[in-house]
Amino acid sequence: MTKVVVAGGGLVGPLLSIMLRKHGHEVTLLEKRSDPRKEVLDGGRSINLVLTSRGINALYSVGLARQALDISVAVTGRMMHAKDGELTYQPYGRDPSECNYSISRLDLNKFLLTEAEKLGVKTVFSAEVESIDLEQKNLTFKGSTSKMNLQYDILFGSDGAGSKVREFIQKNCSDFKISNEFIPSGYKELTMPLRADKSPPLRKDALHIWPRGSHMLMALANLDGSFTMTLYMPHKGPEKSFEALNSTQKVQDYFSREFSDVIDLMPGLLDEYEQNPVGSLGTVRCSPWVFGSSVCLLGDAAHAIVPFFGQGMNCGFEDCAYLSLFLEKYNMDWHQVLAEFENFQRPNANAIATMALENFIEMQRKVGDENFLKRKGVEAILEKEFPTLYRSRYGLVTYTLVPYVACQAIGLIQEKILEELCAELDRPENVDLKKAEALIQERLVPFYKNHGVSVERFQF
Ligand SMILES: Cc1cc2nc3c(=O)[nH]c(=O)nc-3n(C[C@H](O)[C@H](O)[C@H](O)COP(=O)(O)OP(=O)(O)OC[C@H]3O[C@@H](n4cnc5c(N)ncnc54)[C@H](O)[C@@H]3O)c2cc1C
Repeated sequence: MTKVVVAGGGLVGPLLSIMLRKHGHEVTLLEKRSDPRKEVLDGGRSINLVLTSRGINALYSVGLARQALDISVAVTGRMMHAKDGELTYQPYGRDPSECNYSISRLDLNKFLLTEAEKLGVKTVFSAEVESIDLEQKNLTFKGSTSKMNLQYDILFGSDGAGSKVREFIQKNCSDFKISNEFIPSGYKELTMPLRADKSPPLRKDALHIWPRGSHMLMALANLDGSFTMTLYMPHKGPEKSFEALNSTQKVQDYFSREFSDVIDLMPGLLDEYEQNPVGSLGTVRCSPWVFGSSVCLLGDAAHAIVPFFGQGMNCGFEDCAYLSLFLEKYNMDWHQVLAEFENFQRPNANAIATMALENFIEMQRKVGDENFLKRKGVEAILEKEFPTLYRSRYGLVTYTLVPYVACQAIGLIQEKILEELCAELDRPENVDLKKAEALIQERLVPFYKNHGVSVERFQF
């Protein structure tokens, strides 16, 4: 039995702890904040997340998928809200069972912590890791009353984008490399309550998006039918930025102008806008993730990404699933397990980081772009006509377990195919399906064969 310490009890830490307990290890989970099941959380930090194939698969592997889905809302497509109030619904998948799940970060966190404790994980809250002696395998954390030391065999850093564990690897590892790049936009949480008659204010089974180029509003349903919303906007700028919206009147005018169809459904808007913090969004890439076969980073601590593919947590959960797989494969030989984990998963994390940034740019630049919409239209036709041969990059990332690196490579091949099919095409419906099939057979099918890729969706 290995004595494992997991630093960080957010989303990835508790799931990792559950997996490690299932492998028979002694696990202590340290979390800087107080126990979320006992305290009321600060406003504006109770965001909803989209749970997709990779996250569900990881939960399934520890027998918790069904229960997690029970506290989530199935989301079958996007509802785009134009400025004039016109609504366009785009289904995500080929049928409504191919969907995403909206889940409250707080509810998921509480659920995983409870399940971890049930299995015998020792949780310590208000326990902030302060320093680590990597040679002696000893860490110091600030407890609620005093500083304490803890000896470990293996330490996992799942302590988020600003990881303390990463800081100590960096201090002790001369060839440690890190880039931490923020995008110019930030986000703010807002809410939309139930209507007076207790009915949902919007269609529950859709991710609602108000795309406006450089800024956008998104809404995901809560279990009771109310919505948690996220406003994404540049931090700085003369207008349509968090800096510029510096008075109640300006916020009111901005929402009336940009999101006129929902402003009346958000009675707490002005107070929430004032009270809720603006969060930053960035990408962390670093290496190595593993130090001395005894310390390992995962989740956002290893690879924080921007949220425009809805994959940060899903990728972190997939880290846990792969780690568990390698623990079985190498019969608990930690040196091999950690080395293979990093070798395999770091390129995948880099790939989804890049794809998430591309989505951010795509959302900003391509809203209303005729060519872009034509390509999306053709892609939807290919997915329908060739269900076993063609799945969009979004679909591969969201509904399959195809490694992110392969999704990225397939996406590049698809781009070229779509470019060729769309050249001189007037309308998506007129796409040459014979040519499409020939291109798929010539370029995509060999890739699938060489990389063992199946575009079948993940189901459990
Ligand atoms: C606006 C937004 C929307 C998002 N939407 C999605 C989505 O739809 N789908 C998706 O998959 N992902 C999404 N993400 C990403 C997702 O939130 C993260 O990838 C995920 O929370 C990472 O989990 P984690 O456990 O690695 O880190 P965190 O959730 O950040 O948890 C880290 C934990 O470590 C604790 N900690 C920090 N320092 C210390 C210390 N020194 N000692 C002890 N504990 C410490 C923190 O208190 C925290 O509880 C979104 C992110 C944002 C910002």
